[in-house]
Amino acid sequence: MNGEGEQVARYPGLHGKRALVTGGSRGIGLAIVEALLSQGVIVTAASRTIEPDASRKGRPEAQRYAVAMDVSDRNSVQAGFDRAMEAMGGLDILVANAGVSTIQGFAETRDEDWDFNMDVNAKGTFITNQIAANHFLKERTGTIVNVSSFAGKIGLPLLGAYSASKFAVIGWTQALARELGPANIRVNAVCPGYVDTSMQERELKWEGDLRGMSVEQVRADYISQTPLGRIETPQEVADTVVFLCSGSARFMTGQSLNVTGGVYIT
Ligand code: NAP
Repeated sequence: MNGEGEQVARYPGLHGKRALVTGGSRGIGLAIVEALLSQGVIVTAASRTIEPDASRKGRPEAQRYAVAMDVSDRNSVQAGFDRAMEAMGGLDILVANAGVSTIQGFAETRDEDWDFNMDVNAKGTFITNQIAANHFLKERTGTIVNVSSFAGKIGLPLLGAYSASKFAVIGWTQALARELGPANIRVNAVCPGYVDTSMQERELKWEGDLRGMSVEQVRADYISQTPLGRIETPQEVADTVVFLCSGSARFMTGQSLNVTGGVYIT
């Protein structure tokens, strides 16, 4: 049952599968961890600062694990994957969700801002996908879902470095899907809109300062851009990720699905 007393929808092909979710400590990643657990998936949440025991509360240990990992550092990612696969007895699903953002005009964007966005969002997706895909190739099965953004489909003012890194995620997703399709490995992405997380809290403040607006005014602007008329919840992204991981999406690969309440439509 979910929080509103409704039955949780069941998706085929997920029960007993083993998933690694990067950025699984909070926000969209934590919602994805919870949504996969509700389908009977064994899940390891990964992030830089996650406590190994923190994410086990309320779940039997055999279902839920946590590993520390910096997705921009190959040695750290490999060590995290090794620990996760040992704990879970293998890996069937990767959700590459870890991400960061900075907000500034093009002229104020420093090399380190560009590198920060690229290292975590683009290179982190590349490294985690490559390690998972090499494992999946041995099994000739597995699926990857990358978390991009609607900023990965249309360049957003004040978010140039972030937008570029999220475009990279979509290009990589398409290329990898074409390479791995013959081995029965699916690779897709989701593109959220304006989602209520700690990333958004930081962005509301930054953007407000740059545009001379209050946090409330920026939030109202986000809502006015959203045809469905409200801020998105992490759960709404997670539901689409679960679908993409499941057998219901068995003939979908190379797609980047918008889950934006209509902020971006194509
Ligand atoms: P968030 O609340 O800031 O959470 C980010 C997560 O990523 C945390 O678990 C964080 O944990 C982890 N992380 C950050 N850097 C990392 C690194 N180098 N290695 C490993 N983990 C790292 O952000 P969110 O809003 O949930 O965003 C999740 C994803 O959705 C991101 O890819 C973001 O770009 C995308 N997205 C968000 C929105 C939105 O409106 N919120 C919209 C579109 C797309 P640690 O700090 O412990 O590492």
